[in-house]
Amino acid sequence: MASSEEQTLETAPDVGELTPPNRTLMGPGPSDVNPRVLRAMSTPLVGHLDPSFIEIMNDVQDLLRYTFRTDNQWTIPVSGTGSASMEAAIGNVVEPGDTMLVPTNGYFGGRMASMAERAGGTVVTVDAPWGEPLDPDDVANALAEHDPDVFGFIHAETSTGVVQPDVPELTAAAHDHDALVIADTVTSLGGVELRVDEWGIDVAYSGPQKCLSCPPGASPLTLSDDAMEKVLGRDTDPRSWYLDLSLLEGYWGSDRSYHHTAPITNVYAIREALRLVAEEGIEARWERHRELAGALKAGMEGMGLEMNAPEAYWLPSLNAVRVPDGVDDGDICADLLERYDLEIASGLGDLTGEIFRIGCMGHSARPENVLLVVTALGDSLE
Ligand code: PLP
Repeated sequence: MASSEEQTLETAPDVGELTPPNRTLMGPGPSDVNPRVLRAMSTPLVGHLDPSFIEIMNDVQDLLRYTFRTDNQWTIPVSGTGSASMEAAIGNVVEPGDTMLVPTNGYFGGRMASMAERAGGTVVTVDAPWGEPLDPDDVANALAEHDPDVFGFIHAETSTGVVQPDVPELTAAAHDHDALVIADTVTSLGGVELRVDEWGIDVAYSGPQKCLSCPPGASPLTLSDDAMEKVLGRDTDPRSWYLDLSLLEGYWGSDRSYHHTAPITNVYAIREALRLVAEEGIEARWERHRELAGALKAGMEGMGLEMNAPEAYWLPSLNAVRVPDGVDDGDICADLLERYDLEIASGLGDLTGEIFRIGCMGHSARPENVLLVVTALGDSLE
C-alpha cells in the first residue's frame, strides 16, 4: 500500500482540496456526466427507509423498466458497479451443478465464465474470434451438445466494439432447450437498441457509467418471472449474502425492509440519469448514438483508419479502430490525455496493441466531442 515516507501517526496528512482534471471521457466508460446528474448527487441525504426515498426507489424502478423495455417487476439498481449486477445475475441464476454456456469472443465472456464457476456451475463455451459476434448456428449447436441450464451472451462487447445481432434467434434457441438467457447489456443499455421483453431475454444486467452517463455505484438488473421463480426456488443459498436476490426482495419488493444501506446518492444519480433518458425518448436516444458514432466512424475512415468491426455488427457506443502499423497505441492515448484532456483507451486481451477503443456514450455522445476526437487523434497520429 502506497504511503509517503514522512507520514507518521502523529502528523495529520497534508492533502489539498480535490481538483480532478476536467477530462472529456471518450473511452470505454465512464462517460461524461450530465451536470443535472451531478446536481442531483449534491442534494441532501435522506435515510434509505425514509418515505421520500421509497418514492425515489419506485421512480428508479419505473424508469429502469422503461429503459430496459420490460414489464419485469423484478427490476432494480444493484448496489455496486456493473460487476455487482453481473454477479447478482449469475450468482443467483446459476446453482451448483448447473451448466452455463458462455461466449469466448471477448473479455467479458471470460468474466461470465469465472463468475459461473464460482457459483458452482460447470462452464461450457460457444466460440467465435475476438471481434466477431456469435453465429446463431454455433449457439444452436452448442445448446444441442451441452443442454445447458443457462446461456449467457454479451450484447455489447466493450473489449471488441461488437454488438451481438440476431438476439431473438439466440433466445428462442435457448428456450427450445429450456435454458434461461442472461444478457450483458453494460455497454448497450440506454444507447443501443435493446428490447428485453420483445427479444425474450430472461435476465439483463448493466452498469450506469456507460450510455446512461451516471457515476458508477448503482447498477441496473432485471429478471423475468421465470428467472425469479428459479432464483426463489433454489435448493441452496447463493454464495453471496450481499447479492442474494431472495433477501434483496425484502428491500426492493413490497416490504421495503432493511437489507443493507442503499448508496442513496448513487440512487439519486441514476434517477436523474434515467429521467434524462425518458425526456429524450429511448428510441431517439438510440438514434442519437448511431448518428454521432456514425460521424465519428466517418471521421476515422476519412483519416484512412480502419474500423475493427464491419457495419453489420459495429457497436456505436464503443468504436474499435485499428491501430496503424508502427504506431504505439499507449503513446497516443497518453498524448491525447496530456495535450487534449481527452480519454480514449487501448485494446484488451486478444486485441492488445491492435485497436483504440473510442466510446460514444450518453452525455459524451455530442457533436463537439466527436469533432475533438477526430481532430485530436489526427493530430496525435501525424
Ligand atoms: N460487462 C461489460 C460488457 C463491461 O464493459 C463492464 C465494464 O466495463 C463490465 C461488465 C463490468 O462493469 P464494472 O467495471 O462497472 O464493474
